[in-house]
Amino acid sequence: MDPASAAVAKQMSELAFSVPYSSVGSVFGSEEVAAVAAVLESGGPLAGGPIRAKFESRLAEILGVPYAFTTPSCSSALEIATQLLDLRPGAEVIATPQTYQATLSSLLVRTDVIVRFCDVDPVTLNADPASVAALANDKTAAIFIVHYGGLMADVEAIATVARQYGALLVEDCAHAIGADRGGRAPGSVGDLGCFSFQGTKNISTLGQGGLLTCRDPDLAARVARVRDYEPDATFRPARGMPLHPWAAPTSGAFEHEKNAFTHECIDLRHGGHNGVMSEAAAAVGLVQLDRLDHLVSRRANIADAFDRGISQVEGMRVQSVSHVHRHAHHLYTCFITPGPGIDREGVATALRRRGVEVVLRYFPIHLLPEWRRLGHGPGECPVAERVWFTEQVNLPLYPSLTDDQVALVVESVRASVEELRE
Ligand SMILES: *Cc1c(COP(=O)(O)O)cnc(C)c1O
Repeated sequence: MDPASAAVAKQMSELAFSVPYSSVGSVFGSEEVAAVAAVLESGGPLAGGPIRAKFESRLAEILGVPYAFTTPSCSSALEIATQLLDLRPGAEVIATPQTYQATLSSLLVRTDVIVRFCDVDPVTLNADPASVAALANDKTAAIFIVHYGGLMADVEAIATVARQYGALLVEDCAHAIGADRGGRAPGSVGDLGCFSFQGTKNISTLGQGGLLTCRDPDLAARVARVRDYEPDATFRPARGMPLHPWAAPTSGAFEHEKNAFTHECIDLRHGGHNGVMSEAAAAVGLVQLDRLDHLVSRRANIADAFDRGISQVEGMRVQSVSHVHRHAHHLYTCFITPGPGIDREGVATALRRRGVEVVLRYFPIHLLPEWRRLGHGPGECPVAERVWFTEQVNLPLYPSLTDDQVALVVESVRASVEELRE
């Protein structure tokens, strides 16, 4: 066995689970390795070169948006998006509670802004448009949603509410690349879309990476200024300062610098980021984009097999997703209908005992201590709370699951529920 396979085998044997929740081993193949090698051996720039620009224009084309900016992570895309909202003290933001904390963490520092958590649909776990509409008012400045698990939220309905009140809509698309809703891609309906290419997501750029999309040219100009000190920024000599033209290198990205310059990108209200992707990461991203359909199809096949098997088990509910919309199948979520002998904790414990690592994604954000400190608490989002505490489980779902593992998951769900019933 070669050292890499031996390392994976060792990792596997250390895991107690026959079906671990996350994939083990590299998610990359020889084409990604070759893409990185080509960048490193080319002698070309490692940052600010043509590959990132190509990756961004391919993403813009695939997603049907005019502007796509790579970022180091989805978290940094969300942070930049939040800065660009220009939230005034007293402004209100409507947000989904059923998402990963990063969706809203950049709002935590804005203690002068009021966050109102909407409730979610009990099947899709996406923001419920009726709940969003009920919370919207003239003070609503922004709406934050996620496309939970890779199935797009009813983004058209929510965008209509946003437009009615002049609020900006931020889509967290971390799960959703490869999804489609009525011919619209994630990130193409709202004002700002934030994507993740972190190692566990549907595609990855060397383990970390993100994207910020937008449609409005003014917003795009501001994203470019805030995102990046370096190649995209406009430099100009600082007024009244002596110039020493030789003080900066004359080649590459530094050509336009003169010793005393100001970064126009540093918007005084926001500061600047060094928030762009490296050439090697973008090169891997281009390969992964070519594989996106294949990777999402494999996820869809596994999810279909889970749906077919689990929907036969009395006491279990699947998402029974309408196939009108393309699901990116980042997460697989199913539900337990509590009844005599059957409860969520029991089923989850039995599944884990059988070697299937099930987890819960995600703890309702409004109940986290940092949000409770701001006055949020139980009862605010009854559906999200009920589903998380009593009904949902997330099963392992990734392209490298083998057919045997898929069969084992289905059989384990059936056997676990049966065992509890007896
Ligand atoms: C993973 C994830 C993020 C954060 O992505 P990073 O690229 O790791 O910063 C944000 N939102 C959701 C819903 C996620 O799943």
